[in-house]
Amino acid sequence: VIVSENLSVQEAQAIILKNLQPVGEERLPLASCAGRILAEEISAGADLPPFANSSMDGFAVITGDIAAASPQSPVVLAIAADIPAGSTPSIRLQTGQAARIMTGAMIPAGADAVVPVENTGFAPHLAGDQAGAPLPHSVAIFSPEAPGANIRPRAQDVKQGQVLLTSGRRLLPQDIGILASAGYASVTVYRRPLVALFSSGDELVQPGQPLQGGQIYDSNQFLLAALLEQAGAHVLRLGTAPDNPEAIRALLDQAVNEKADLIVTSAGVSVGAFDFVRQMIESNGSLHFWKVNMRPGKPLAFGAYAGIPFIGLPGNPVSAYVGCRVFVFPAVQRLAGQPDPGRWKQKAHLGEPVKSDGRESYLRAVVQEEDGRLVARLTGHQGSGNLYSLVQANALLIVPSGVKSLPSDSEVDVWFLDAE
Ligand code: AMP
Ligand code: MG
Repeated sequence: VIVSENLSVQEAQAIILKNLQPVGEERLPLASCAGRILAEEISAGADLPPFANSSMDGFAVITGDIAAASPQSPVVLAIAADIPAGSTPSIRLQTGQAARIMTGAMIPAGADAVVPVENTGFAPHLAGDQAGAPLPHSVAIFSPEAPGANIRPRAQDVKQGQVLLTSGRRLLPQDIGILASAGYASVTVYRRPLVALFSSGDELVQPGQPLQGGQIYDSNQFLLAALLEQAGAHVLRLGTAPDNPEAIRALLDQAVNEKADLIVTSAGVSVGAFDFVRQMIESNGSLHFWKVNMRPGKPLAFGAYAGIPFIGLPGNPVSAYVGCRVFVFPAVQRLAGQPDPGRWKQKAHLGEPVKSDGRESYLRAVVQEEDGRLVARLTGHQGSGNLYSLVQANALLIVPSGVKSLPSDSEVDVWFLDAE
């Protein structure tokens, strides 16, 4: 066990990630894949688009026929075919001919451009009286077109065999779209990690129950479950254990029986007389570390219980939140198959001086754009029990390790809370 007071956030993150492997894979229908992590490489089985097609509603032509076309002296072409989307044209266009064509329809052999319908006409004195007929006999072309105009060539977007998506990618809506374009009805993704979660503390009561003296509601259970789901986990909510070793062990064993991929707890990992979580982990497993040089959230434990990775978060709600963001999020992402979970930081300027105690600090802040740059200001009292100051924040402002004060205007890293 590392009990050093100086284990850095980065070292602790690295230890956690080193000890976690992606969970298994499953094959899912495409409709269920948004947000999931791809577990295979996907390449295109065919060109996209699969055939040359029109990008406009109009008339497929031979450009040589219409080189001299103008509104004053249109070129009249005989309409040789009608090509709706979804059909295969059977003709080869001859000089003097046009084919009516719809957006997305296959370009007929012989044609080398499409004239948009806006640049054509069917004046009776030019085309014969076609009123009421679905397809006129002829069309007047009002402008020339360059070869290739308004044609989307085969493979313009993607060539057959080209890699479309690599393993480890979190599938975005547009990825699901291109998988469908390429004809995939299902793909292999990583299973969602199952994270067992419980709180510990004799003072904790479920919302909906009346509070007795000295009791508070169990906010961490709800906060952490929501955060873990955001990270891509299935959450096994095991409730609250009172501060007694047997009750804590019973919930840990339940997590084992239900085959959790990770156990996350809050509270009971500090140095208080009733902090039994640490003790119970060590009774049937081991701890890699239980302190990190950060603020808030110094009492933070990582280890394994009966072979299942375990992260013990501090009890104070803001500490639990920050610990979950900084350590559990990347852990869940690793279990879920994302190869390189990174933080999404931006630079901002302090709108006020900030003090710290030299530990790497995650302060609650509002970051907003002022005069073309991001400015960060603290929200309320930064005590780690004060959840409302987190509710008011839209970012965590990071003061690096070793820094005790920063003057107003300093450049700092900020981490937007809704960025993942
Ligand atoms: P502990 O880690 O048990 O010493 O708890 C530290 C602080 O966090 C105490 O003030 C606890 O009452 C509070 N706390 C612990 N667990 C929770 C929870 N699940 N919800 C809200 N506050 C909690
Ligand atoms: Mg406690």
